[in-house]
Amino acid sequence: MEPIREYTASGFLVREFSSLSSTNDYLKGLSGEESIDRLCAVAHTQTGGKGRLGRKFFSPDGGLYLSALFKKRLPISSASLITPAAAVAVAEAIESLGVKNIGIKWVNDLIFEGKKICGILTETKIAPSGSALESFVVGIGVNLFEPEGGFPDEIKNRAGAVFKNRDESLRGRLVGEILSRLGSVGEAAAEKSFVESYRERSVLIGKEILVLENGRETPATALGIDGDCRLIVRTDAGERALFCGEVSLKIQEG
Ligand code: ATP
Repeated sequence: MEPIREYTASGFLVREFSSLSSTNDYLKGLSGEESIDRLCAVAHTQTGGKGRLGRKFFSPDGGLYLSALFKKRLPISSASLITPAAAVAVAEAIESLGVKNIGIKWVNDLIFEGKKICGILTETKIAPSGSALESFVVGIGVNLFEPEGGFPDEIKNRAGAVFKNRDESLRGRLVGEILSRLGSVGEAAAEKSFVESYRERSVLIGKEILVLENGRETPATALGIDGDCRLIVRTDAGERALFCGEVSLKIQEG
């Protein structure tokens, strides 16, 4: 698979492809020699885009699919904070292009006008000692424009696009804005310096939600986000802090 373009931006080497199976898989599949710190893969479509928990991320033409590889040691405890730190970086990048009020639905979805416009998937590699992360890949899928013919039926009620008019120059501009903020995502995760901005963007606080966990749905009220970016909820059984791992959330209608 040959890139259509290769260039550098904000310290990243960017390889741009018209289509990849998955930008995360491309970076993870490179041999040791090829896999360099701050290598970024951008694709205009993905044929096998992935979400969390093995779910599918629809990746039609009209989206931006960007993954970045970081060969950076980080404490294991920071692993779950990389995705929310990246969410803040991407929200700020989108807003720098004039689109306002980008919200975050804990933990990894960006929301605009009530619709999901972006999903983020971080995949980590643990050092042989088991005590730290050795590298990680952050994958970001943004619905730039509505695909021709609309979003697929499975997601048409919940997916939205960032921009109304299909101006292809926005793709390159957004890549630049994302990369200029993404370089420090590891530090932001380790220092938890992003949490305040994350909290301000959270669309869940005060909402009635359903917590989907181990095949069970529990009604809850979202109360807040703590300093470790955990979601504090109240259920009939009392208050608890949710880790992002195996939990999914639905906002209850009405
Ligand atoms: P959810 O999106 O259901 O709240 P999640 O944040 O854990 O859960 P991810 O695993 O990050 O979801 O992403 C996969 C899910 O995102 C899919 O199950 C689908 O509902 C939704 N989805 C897939 N492709 C797109 C897309 N292009 N735009 C918006 N939403 C999408």
